[in-house]
Amino acid sequence: MARARKHKKGGEPSAPRNRKGGAPIIEMRDVTKVYPGGHMALDRVSLAIDRGEFVFLVGPTGCGKSTLIKMLIRELEATEGSVRIAGRDIGAMSEKKTPNLRRNIGTVFQDFKLLPDRTVYDNVAYALQVIGAHRGEIRRQVPEILRLVGLSTKLHSYPDELSGGEQQRVSIARAFVNHPPLLLADEPSGNLDPVTSIGVMQLLYRINKTVTHDREMVDNMRRRVIELYEGRVVRDEVSGGYTEESTSECGLRMRAEMGVAPEGQTNGHDSHDSLF
Ligand code: ADP
Ligand code: MG
Repeated sequence: MARARKHKKGGEPSAPRNRKGGAPIIEMRDVTKVYPGGHMALDRVSLAIDRGEFVFLVGPTGCGKSTLIKMLIRELEATEGSVRIAGRDIGAMSEKKTPNLRRNIGTVFQDFKLLPDRTVYDNVAYALQVIGAHRGEIRRQVPEILRLVGLSTKLHSYPDELSGGEQQRVSIARAFVNHPPLLLADEPSGNLDPVTSIGVMQLLYRINKTVTHDREMVDNMRRRVIELYEGRVVRDEVSGGYTEESTSECGLRMRAEMGVAPEGQTNGHDSHDSLF
């Protein structure tokens, strides 16, 4: 998910502009990733994602989804090609800037990555402490985001006292508590049953809707699906018509697409990876 935010001046002159004049939040140009040992995980991937867009990155296991996401947070470097975040070529940035880049990108993983010896409240507060937030800000923002994800009654619980879906809600709260302009989720529902995973997807959709106030950005928020196959983009489609979709309508549609019956029966279809 890429959140609407005031466009900053800057970016490099060669970076393309969307119709509002801002650089895409994510732009990859001819990105190839060859792992040590010679496996080509991404093969000349080019894509641009605007602020406010809600994008699904899909494809079979091993097609390169996690590799792509890791390149956006500079956990991996491109072998060839360029990766730009908000107009900045991150491959050309100094190493010192990496923590700043990561502060501006919320990340959610399949395995939640919560601190087991801290409460729900402290797991989320920790994300603000590490960026030097003031105590007052932490006390105000942590309960607020936990309310947004529906966990107001679990502030003092520990991760092992929560269901998988609840743990993923905590990790979403943690990723989003400082309102980053970009939220990435790598198989956020991969460890969850289909019904719970729809709840997690609805939550991400709702967060994107809630924070995207800009009318034009909301118009932009049709669902977009980018599909990878063996490291290449084989589909990049926007399916229109969801602009006015409510969160529950979104849930119903996702149920239908994932083959989950309303009463919670499943056809065992894999969950989608997502990149927001
Ligand atoms: P996905 O997330 O879509 O399942 P990945 O991005 O994890 O796919 O992997 C893409 C391909 O790169 C796979 O063939 C995988 O085996 C390979 N790969 C992933 N990580 C490494 C690594 N550290 N070293 C070598 N090959 C890797
Ligand atoms: Mg993966």
